[in-house]
Amino acid sequence: MANFYTDNPDLKHHLTHPLMEKIVALKERNYTDAEKFDYAPLDYADAQDSYDKVLEIVGEICGDIIAPNAEDVDHQGPRVENGRVIYADKTKENLDACRKAGLMGMAMPRRFGGLNFPITPYIMAADIVSRADTGFENLWGLQDCAETIYEFADEEQKAKFIPRVCKGETMSMDLTEPDAGSDLQSVMLKATEQPDGTWLLNGVKRFITNGDSDIHLVLARSEAGTKDGRGLSMFIYDKNDGGVNVRRIENKMGIKGSPTCELTYKNAKAVLCGSRRLGLIKYVMALMNGARLGIAAQSVGVSELAYREALAYAKDRKQFGKAIIEFPAVYEMLSV
Ligand SMILES: Cc1cc2nc3c(=O)[nH]c(=O)nc-3n(C[C@H](O)[C@H](O)[C@H](O)COP(=O)(O)OP(=O)(O)OC[C@H]3O[C@@H](n4cnc5c(N)ncnc54)[C@H](O)[C@@H]3O)c2cc1C
Repeated sequence: MANFYTDNPDLKHHLTHPLMEKIVALKERNYTDAEKFDYAPLDYADAQDSYDKVLEIVGEICGDIIAPNAEDVDHQGPRVENGRVIYADKTKENLDACRKAGLMGMAMPRRFGGLNFPITPYIMAADIVSRADTGFENLWGLQDCAETIYEFADEEQKAKFIPRVCKGETMSMDLTEPDAGSDLQSVMLKATEQPDGTWLLNGVKRFITNGDSDIHLVLARSEAGTKDGRGLSMFIYDKNDGGVNVRRIENKMGIKGSPTCELTYKNAKAVLCGSRRLGLIKYVMALMNGARLGIAAQSVGVSELAYREALAYAKDRKQFGKAIIEFPAVYEMLSV
């Protein structure tokens, strides 16, 4: 089967951009990790070599497993049973392949079990995964949420949650509610502080991608009586603690393998991430910066797939005695 990395030379353009040398040195803290981890790069060339090798593995898994599974995933889709999401069988196979290859928590530091990838090669991987199965990219790409924990949570929370993401547990970002879509300042899900310093969450979230994930980032109203974004905080909910159920999943036109969930929170125990009141105005804004890159990569990946499919079809399909690509009207649509 095709390797979705090596068969697309355009991708390398980003990896070899002149700015990369500086970016990699910053991410690798001048290659000091090499003193602690024998698989950490020694210098820029070594780092480039390791990105190249990992991306080849991504390309191989995408070409051999995820892309061939995509049609089955689309037909079977996920379902809800007793408040839990059951993924399509081939989605489970995809996740398993990514876990075994160490492709979860890719951008997280090595001390937590990640590969310490800079955003550029990580987003290249997202592009490749999206070309294989755009819906699966939604699940796999939510590993991005670990970045918010790494940036804003305390050390104890980082040590608890990030290694789990690197081992393959999935994440979700629970922001949207029935009456709070574009206008996230209207979020009403209620967070109540407990004497032991934990919080209880009550309310409803809607349109949550992979809403039955293992670890959720949740935007909730911690400041009673407030109405705007300054009363909202960010929480981490651990599915092992219980209290969140999936009421239904959306019946979508596409990306069917990715469950878009409505969630009910009933006294769901959670911990505060970072400082109170900064949930929307600081943490969600940072989270969205990463999510936007992921969604952009998803669009580029699915466009690559559509282009290749259209080109192959135009070369194969014959009308009026010749392949339709030979007609200027078709050729022009496919020329780049
Ligand atoms: C497949 C899918 C996956 C999703 N995954 C997640 C997820 O993982 N986590 C999560 O929290 N949310 C998720 N969402 C929700 C998504 O973030 C919201 O749909 C989005 O924020 C828009 O909210 P809304 O659908 O309520 O639309 P509305 O906010 O009601 O907007 C309706 C329309 O009005 C327009 N509009 C609204 N306000 C303005 C304005 N001020 N100026 C001009 N136009 C405006 C909008 O552009 C839109 O066209 C997902 C949605 C989908 C469809």
